[in-house]
Order: sequence, then C-alpha cells, then structure tokens
Amino acid sequence: MNTLQNNLHTIQNQIQTASQNYQRRNVHLLAVSKRHPATAIRELYDLGQHHFGESYLQEALIKIAELEDLACHWHFIGPIQSNKTQQIAQHFAWVHSVDRLKIAQRLNQQRPTALPPLNVCLQVNISQEASKSGLSPTELPELANAVRKLPNIRLRGLMAIPAPQKEFAQQRAEFRKLAQIQQQLIHQGHPLDTLSMGMSNDLEAAIAEGATLVRIGTALFGQRQT
Ligand SMILES: *Cc1c(COP(=O)(O)O)cnc(C)c1O
Repeated sequence: MNTLQNNLHTIQNQIQTASQNYQRRNVHLLAVSKRHPATAIRELYDLGQHHFGESYLQEALIKIAELEDLACHWHFIGPIQSNKTQQIAQHFAWVHSVDRLKIAQRLNQQRPTALPPLNVCLQVNISQEASKSGLSPTELPELANAVRKLPNIRLRGLMAIPAPQKEFAQQRAEFRKLAQIQQQLIHQGHPLDTLSMGMSNDLEAAIAEGATLVRIGTALFGQRQT
C-alpha cells in the first residue's frame, strides 16, 4: 500500500471506531485537497473517496477542470468574497462557509437552474474569536430563516473551526456548542442533517459530539505546500 492509501484506511478506521464508541451514524469523510495536486485527488477517487474540499477558488477551478472526467463532489470551505460567488455557484455541490445573507443571495441567483440546489452550511464563529470568519450564534436564527427561503439553495447545517484545544474534553466542549445550536435550529423547524466539524487533530472529539462530515487534510495528504 502506498502512503495515500494507507492514510485513507487509517482515517476510515478512526471514523469507524469513533462512530462505534460514541454510537454515531452517518459520519462522512471530506478529503480537504487544498494545496495538493490533482494527481493525489485522482488516486483517492480511484480508492472510492469522492468528496473533496477546497479553500482557494482559482486553485480549485484548475483542478476541477483537470478532473472533469471524474464524478467528484466539490465542497467549497474557504472564505468567500462576493466576486467569487458566480464560479462557486457553477462548479461546486456544497459550500460550508456562508456567513452572511448577501453571499447566500448571490449564490442563489447565480446557481445554474440545470443543477440541483446548492447544499449550504452556515459557518459559525463558535469560539467567538475576533480573527475568525463565521457569524456569531446570536445572528444565526435570522440568517437561517432568510437562507431557507432561497429556492436554489438547500440549507443543510452548520460548520465551525473552533479555536485549537489540546485537551480532548475541551475539544468536545467546543463542538458541543455547535451541536446544541444545530438542535435549536432543528427545533425551530429547520430540517438540518449536516454538522461539518472536526479536522485532522480533533476528529474523534467532533464525532463524539455528532459530526456528520469531518474535513481532513493533513492526516490524509500530508503537509501542505505553502
Ligand atoms: C484546511 C482546512 C481543513 C483541513 O485541515 P487539516 O488540519 O489539514 O486536516 C479543514 N477545514 C477547513 C475549513 C480548512 O480550511
């Protein structure tokens, strides 16, 4: 087995073990391929991994074109400027990083009607860090209500990148906050099924708290080129 195949199996086993230990179902792997070449993506695709996350639009568009012969599901997970929404709406199946209405409205208008609705997660600044993107939990109900009315968008759930924590219990506490906010929105009538949380260093804690989509880069592909 080569490294990529080995890493994929290791992560799949970690996901499976954590799912069993915490009685979670429906945990899916998003392979975060930013700063990694199309050849690595193709190799993972052939091993059965079909969902890929990208953060930088120009880089992503080149790889998407190179891999057009594959049925990859592309997820945009990086910060979004308004002048980027058209190409995101055209080339991606999912967007995890919507944090304001203007962006959602543009994605809705620019989503080609021949494609299924764009799957969207709202990004929450769960640790309330000034430097991080994402909206504050208090702003969330209003944005969720507005986004839900957009016909070419399907609101699927929430995404967060919590402040790094070393202790497992503290990692869980951050993810629990997002899971609780998700439950509140579900009680308010939003049919949400996706919690996008957990990266290479904290995926077990995220699964323990109910992640359905873990976003793994380094543990799968190795260190990124800068
Ligand atoms: C880069 C990135 C990841 C992957 O992080 P790793 O620590 O390399 O697993 C996950 N989510 C987002 C939003 C990212 O930008």
